[in-house]
Amino acid sequence: MPNRRDFIMRVAGATAGLWAANRTFMRDASAQGRGQGGGQGQAGASDAPVAHRDVRVGGKRVKVIDVHAHATIPEVADVVKGTPLERYAQGGRALGPDRIRELDKRGIDIQVLDINTFWWYNAADRDLAAKIVDVHDKGLAAWVNSNHDRFLALTSPTLQFPDLAAQQLEHAVKNLGLVGAAVAGHVQGEPLSDPKYDPFWAKAQELDVMVFMHPNNADNVTKEGLKGRGDLGNIIGNPLETSLFLSHMIYDGAFDRFPNLKICAAHAGGYMPSYLGRTEVACDVRQNAGCLNKKKPSEYLKQQVYIDSMVFSAEGVRHLVAEVGASQVVYGTDIPLVWPDTIDAILGAQIADADKEAILGGNLTKLLRIKT
Ligand SMILES: [Zn+2]
Repeated sequence: MPNRRDFIMRVAGATAGLWAANRTFMRDASAQGRGQGGGQGQAGASDAPVAHRDVRVGGKRVKVIDVHAHATIPEVADVVKGTPLERYAQGGRALGPDRIRELDKRGIDIQVLDINTFWWYNAADRDLAAKIVDVHDKGLAAWVNSNHDRFLALTSPTLQFPDLAAQQLEHAVKNLGLVGAAVAGHVQGEPLSDPKYDPFWAKAQELDVMVFMHPNNADNVTKEGLKGRGDLGNIIGNPLETSLFLSHMIYDGAFDRFPNLKICAAHAGGYMPSYLGRTEVACDVRQNAGCLNKKKPSEYLKQQVYIDSMVFSAEGVRHLVAEVGASQVVYGTDIPLVWPDTIDAILGAQIADADKEAILGGNLTKLLRIKT
């Protein structure tokens, strides 16, 4: 998030008409923020003007809705005071006028809020868990009611008590006006596909509301967590291992220490090329990333890393080429293991013929110095 000075400097050029319109809106929003947020808004920020960015597609103004946004409700601190959960109620994502300014700046018309990190899944005390979710949901509902044209909210129920979670969801939707639920990807490492969670899933289905799954620190990504149907140790675990390997080599500076090293990563480089944007921005946006790499992650992929073609679709091959370049993709089969062959995927990809030739053999000819 930019600081307020940056922010004011940037919006200083807003047009006079928008400025006037937004002054009125912001005053209202500021009063609402102060009224129910316990003074979370920054003092003196209420008059800072900001233009709502009009987002247009083909000249037509389109509505922009954000499904993924977080909040904290400061009042929860009172609920957990003196309990083992006290340390979790730290806030930091409180709702106030700054939030609305951020939406305006980005051109977001409506934002769907949730409370994540799911620390109340650790509550063994059912009553305490219920109180936490209750104060969260009431806080979200109050904010949404005060800013009903800009926000919707999801309840984050106590999934460790699936029957209670079902009740909380029903209450949130029917009585508080929330529009669905947010859940972590697991409860203390346990997959949510376990039948014990069925009462919650059944309620979500019955109410016909969305459930937004937000990861919770990947605590379930363990060897234990990869057990179960689907041969997950292979299907998810192997590409994950490759992604971790490449990430460590990049962020720990190993590719910088060995700039001529060439790596060929199996299974299309794991998830790395498919989700490169997140890898790419880590060092810029995550203050705890501690990056040692001197170049952008994508540069290592384009210069020192080769990946095989084992994505089994023409679109997958096209995407690999788009992310890392045709010079880095090489044909691979995994024979004698039984996987679909990718020659047709390479031939069918929306890429240049020269790229197909390179992937099918040209790149390896150079890399392995094969005499032609
Ligand atoms: Zn998130």
